[in-house]
Amino acid sequence: MPKKYHIHPRPARLDLEYMFKFDITRGENCINCGKCTRVCIYEAHKRRQDDPRRMADPNTVVCRNCFRCIQECPRGALEKSLDPVFAAAGGDFWKPDMLISLWKQAEDGKVPVSGAGYRGPFTGTGFDGMWTDMSEIVRPTRDGIHGREYISTAVDLGRRLNHLVFDAGGRLVSRVPDTVSIPIPMLFEVPDGGLAPNVRQALVKAAAEVGTGVIVPAADITGDLEEVAGSLIPRVAPGEIERYRGVIGKARLVAIEHSDALMTDWPQLRLEIGKIGRALPIVRVPAAKDVEDTVARLAHSGAEIIHIVADYCGRETGGPGGPGPQPHLPSERRTLKDIIRAVHLRLVEDRIRDELTIIASGGIAMAEHVPKAMLCGADLVAVDIPLMIAVGATLCQKPEKQLVYPEGLDGIPVPTLAQRMVNLTAAWHSQILEVMGAMGIREARRLRGESGRAIFFEEVDRDTFGRLFLPGGSDSKGEAVSR
Ligand code: SF4
Ligand code: SF4
Repeated sequence: MPKKYHIHPRPARLDLEYMFKFDITRGENCINCGKCTRVCIYEAHKRRQDDPRRMADPNTVVCRNCFRCIQECPRGALEKSLDPVFAAAGGDFWKPDMLISLWKQAEDGKVPVSGAGYRGPFTGTGFDGMWTDMSEIVRPTRDGIHGREYISTAVDLGRRLNHLVFDAGGRLVSRVPDTVSIPIPMLFEVPDGGLAPNVRQALVKAAAEVGTGVIVPAADITGDLEEVAGSLIPRVAPGEIERYRGVIGKARLVAIEHSDALMTDWPQLRLEIGKIGRALPIVRVPAAKDVEDTVARLAHSGAEIIHIVADYCGRETGGPGGPGPQPHLPSERRTLKDIIRAVHLRLVEDRIRDELTIIASGGIAMAEHVPKAMLCGADLVAVDIPLMIAVGATLCQKPEKQLVYPEGLDGIPVPTLAQRMVNLTAAWHSQILEVMGAMGIREARRLRGESGRAIFFEEVDRDTFGRLFLPGGSDSKGEAVSR
């Protein structure tokens, strides 16, 4: 059995306040009887240290929303209300509950448990409209989660051969291309807008600790990141290769921004990168409306790793110039789930899918999005915003995207911030293992494109009700059905 990959979470509390779902307030009619100190097993209610005759303000941080203190207060003095910061956070994609869950996972690396059963909706847009086939969950003898069988989450980046060629003497003739292996199907990425130096250092340190790479604008790579240089993936424009020769020469992967000229210039550019060092190039392609055509053309030109970049909510972007003006209405833009499926199918049709690596990013907000993106056809994902939530950032979608970092963050030591990012990755890794174990899949590489192991709500809906309600009546394959 191969040596087990394990991430070591450790409690890493931040001395910063994060938002809470509810506020608890103690009214003037409190008689300081102390009953709430006895009924709250989480010790949210305590007496004041300077005057034990009186009650201190409730500690909302530890509250688990059981409502017992509210019900048992003899004077009805306690009130619980939705925190206005919570109510204003996130948006239709980044739900405030999601932000709190990410924050909690970063505290100790534990898998979040909501308890009392799932009370949310069973379908929605994007990955919420997709369910994984957990049919193996009832077969504990095959359970690899608890150590009886090894589940590998390792993936490879680089070009692969469709087949091997041997000479008459049985010697391998094919030249096997170089690849980079990482133990989890996740790269880290610096989000748009830049980072404080200590947060950037922590991100690179955390990537090194969990054994993955981090995509960083080459201009931000400074001497203080030298000790973890092996984890850096410098991000450059095609015209900047020569300028950043030094950092590219030390890297194992380099991310190149896509441009229209790249379609014709790629073979020459690939040669140029090859002369600098061993870095394998990743081409970053915005998830625009025609992304599957762009990816197919790049793949046929020899690109070995392609990174599809959707917007921060996992929707189609405006085009090669970045988010920019949207060419079509938000409601018409595909989600990352459909974008990856379209790219994967296009490459399968072109018989080139097995040869290249697809990275997907944008709107990877929860652990379950990683295996779901892979089932749709990605080899791995890149993660940015959740790692910022781990260090205390909050996100607002309205009126426009705003990632807000907490005051005092720049004074937090790098090891604490890095440990929180490691904790979050550990919690996600455990959840990926849970999903894979329940699906009976032992190799993350085998998740890629296994859409037959997933159920897509739109297809089930169309197959079940399409014949009744859609014009002409058709099923998910577009075939007419008689009524
Ligand atoms: S139980 Fe009610 S009245 Fe008693 S100390 Fe707590 S808040 Fe005050
Ligand atoms: S709601 Fe429950 S957990 Fe929260 S403070 Fe009251 S008793 Fe404690």
